Amino acid sequence: MSPDRNRLHMAVQKSGRLSDRSRQLLKDAGLRLSESGKNHLAARAENFPLDLMFVRDDDIPTFVADGVCELGIVGQNVLEEYALGLSEPRIEEVARLGFGKCSLKIAAPDTLNSFQPAMLDGQRIATSYPRLLKRFVESHGLTAEIVTMRGAVELAPRLGIARFVCDLVSTGATLEANGLAPVCDVFESEAVLVRTLRPIDNLHSDKVSALLARIDGVIATAESKYIVLNAPESALASITAILPGAEAPTVVPLIGRPGHVAVQAVCQESVFWETLERLKAAGASAILVMPIEKMMM
Ligand code: ATP
Ligand code: ZN
Repeated sequence: MSPDRNRLHMAVQKSGRLSDRSRQLLKDAGLRLSESGKNHLAARAENFPLDLMFVRDDDIPTFVADGVCELGIVGQNVLEEYALGLSEPRIEEVARLGFGKCSLKIAAPDTLNSFQPAMLDGQRIATSYPRLLKRFVESHGLTAEIVTMRGAVELAPRLGIARFVCDLVSTGATLEANGLAPVCDVFESEAVLVRTLRPIDNLHSDKVSALLARIDGVIATAESKYIVLNAPESALASITAILPGAEAPTVVPLIGRPGHVAVQAVCQESVFWETLERLKAAGASAILVMPIEKMMM
């Protein structure tokens, strides 16, 4: 199937840790996806000129850099590892997506008592991220022998291939099961939306902007809440200072209650019970917190 140049193309992971959330994000952005092809290698948005290409995550930066896909969703770990191998940038991060969070860490046998980066000097370290690891080791003025493995990195110490490993960790359970413990952080990662740095023609760039605006809206609404509360005017300054991530709240008078106002604000950060307790202590009453379904800035 040759790509249809009248439509945009986005590379997403076929199956793995990012697949479901990537598709969900696009659905939340209002796209109706219909899978096609025997192996579901592609899907078409029925109500937007966008085709999805389902590929291995490692191939996503290349697809986007080459312009085969104008857009892609990939982990920053894969993106940065790829970018470190380029002589000039070919792909750009346009939005952090808030999922797929993990951390590339160095781990050592759990028998090691104390750790300092200097202990890595001259050691063998197994990893699937040789460029990220090399940058880290060099930033500490050290040298190490980096052993590149495509997978099962955590087996390296047991097999006598390397003393340390450098691998992605979210809970640490896999490391623990292999007698390893994380000793230092190399790179923090989450899923990001990327776009090609190849020129995108004018027709397409309107579609890209429209899609990015929708995706920004989905990301913003994920955490955002709409807060309404009543407050004595004298407490306004302290109350607005407590509202998390709120810019310029709306303040309206309350009929029949002189000196009191209603405050309405979009809070772009999580609103916790503690926040409500602090608002109440500052004089707020009748506090309502509501979810926001859609938002476009
Ligand atoms: P593929 O078959 O597409 O090559 P993969 O096995 O390389 O898949 P996954 O394990 O599905 O990749 O992970 C995809 C991405 O999910 C990682 O590159 C990383 O950005 C993110 N991720 C989040 N948590 C973890 C974790 N605990 N371990 C590994 N990756 C994680
Ligand atoms: Zn992969």
